[in-house]
Amino acid sequence: METRGRMTIDAQGDALMIAGAIDEAAALHELVNRALAGRLVLDLAGVTFINSLGVRDWIRMQAAAQKAGIAVELRRVAEPLVHQLNMIIATRGNATVASFSAPYACDACGREESLLIDAFAHAGGLARMEPPPMACPECGAPMAFNDFPERYFSFLQP
Ligand SMILES: [Zn+2]
Repeated sequence: METRGRMTIDAQGDALMIAGAIDEAAALHELVNRALAGRLVLDLAGVTFINSLGVRDWIRMQAAAQKAGIAVELRRVAEPLVHQLNMIIATRGNATVASFSAPYACDACGREESLLIDAFAHAGGLARMEPPPMACPECGAPMAFNDFPERYFSFLQP
């Protein structure tokens, strides 16, 4: 486990697990040097926060990967990063998003939960801005998507 400011990096399988806050200490662009066989796989489930300097560094990482011909795959992208991908087109680079978290709420019991969406399995529905149906982990009732699909899924549109 490696620590950079308030962010940690942990290699697991073919992925680098990124967790914590991404800020000016993150030096994400250096991760391009750790690509394996032309691929850089980032697991972002543990990311809690990214500030504007972190976003700038993220964009540098994407640009460096594109320049070096490295395919970037993003897995389990946490909600704070999904918001950046939606707001700032340059953060998307040429990356493939395999899965990401999205906010759901249960009308029956009031539970709010960030749930993982498989972007490949649900590609058709997501292209039509349709949130995949999810069952409440608490009571089993169908959950409602808790954001505007046109806004939250816009990063997936070509
Ligand atoms: Zn419920």
